[in-house]
Amino acid sequence: DILINEQLSFTSLLLSDKTLTGLTKSGFEKPSPIQVKAIPVGRCGFDLIVKSKSGTGKTAVFGIIALEMLNLSNNDIQVLILAPTREIAAQICDVIKSIGADYEGLKTEYFIGGLPIEDDIEKLKGCHIAVGAPGRIRHLMESEHLKINTVKLLVMDEADKLMESSFQHDINKIYHKLPPQKQIIASSATYPDKLNKFLAKYMQSPSHISPNIDSPLLLGLKHFVSEVKTHLNIIRQYNIKNEELIRLLSKISYTQCLVFTNFQSRAESISNTLNRSGWGSTYISAAQSQNERLEAIQSLKDMKCRILLSTDLTARGIDASNVDLVINYDVPIDASTYLHRMGRAGRYGSRGICISIAGKGKELMQFQNIIGMIGGNTMGVGKLPNDDTF
Ligand code: ADP
Ligand code: MG
Repeated sequence: DILINEQLSFTSLLLSDKTLTGLTKSGFEKPSPIQVKAIPVGRCGFDLIVKSKSGTGKTAVFGIIALEMLNLSNNDIQVLILAPTREIAAQICDVIKSIGADYEGLKTEYFIGGLPIEDDIEKLKGCHIAVGAPGRIRHLMESEHLKINTVKLLVMDEADKLMESSFQHDINKIYHKLPPQKQIIASSATYPDKLNKFLAKYMQSPSHISPNIDSPLLLGLKHFVSEVKTHLNIIRQYNIKNEELIRLLSKISYTQCLVFTNFQSRAESISNTLNRSGWGSTYISAAQSQNERLEAIQSLKDMKCRILLSTDLTARGIDASNVDLVINYDVPIDASTYLHRMGRAGRYGSRGICISIAGKGKELMQFQNIIGMIGGNTMGVGKLPNDDTF
């Protein structure tokens, strides 16, 4: 398999026995290419810019580096991990708890908006690794519940997202409260060029680490476009797309499916339409309460829900290993969003399909531009056949 390097084992990365046991218990037998390359450099204390495709195991890269640097005789926060969405923060926390299961006394917690702050104060007691969305972390910091002057490692997962203007203010506030001596790791599948300049502000001559890749597309994924009629009347257009969505769902065999729309209000209504047609589905939207959002993701991970409708809220980072079909109900706004969405299928080298429903004309052109930018023409982007041959 493309992801497995036969020669290397986690043992050859000179990890502690506790980590090795945790990895075995987590079902990780061999390190992925990015893990092989990044973990040793990270453990030497260098600042890192880790770039590797979706689903290649970046969480364990910084998770392992974090665990290996902890001093558990000391009950300070030593590692701070920032993530752009609350769901990713919760997921990172689970991964570290799982790999760190053999670290006696280890406390890893997540701190996210939408959950009661009183609980956070309890969670902070004796916490070694804090994971959180920037807003809540800043809030806890400014209310002096969270002291980050003991942090030795700052991780920015989905770093390009965290560098967007909406997070800048929170990140700066957090950054300036960190001690001068610290290691920083940035992790993402996509780094627009201008981002490196931004990151350089925070990091000290960082090492850029990525596996040798030629295309940002995932090899196990196949890409299709399904062209539909365009209609000026928006309701008619939705009806056309709904019909096509249902046609696709009934034609393709899949384990779990994520459907992305560009509009928050649509996720719920498409889900309702599907449910009315007998396609059990649920949705996640920024309008829901935090607990509802976490539940929606959990039901996907626990295989309780087969089809999840979403906006780009879950386009990044979310890891549900049985998702093998991604449908873009709307063509995403840019190539990077396309890469992140499609990355929800084909996790860790598994096979998957990504289908974009595109209205003929502008939307189809947008799709072709995106595929052109990411070099998808060589990957055999196909038109979805209209008959039963698919
Ligand atoms: P990324 O952040 O790079 O998109 P994740 O860290 O979410 O990817 O990992 C993707 C999936 O791969 C997860 O389900 C994770 O459990 C699995 N995984 C990661 N590393 C390994 C490994 N060494 N062996 C087996 N599975 C792994
Ligand atoms: Mg990730």
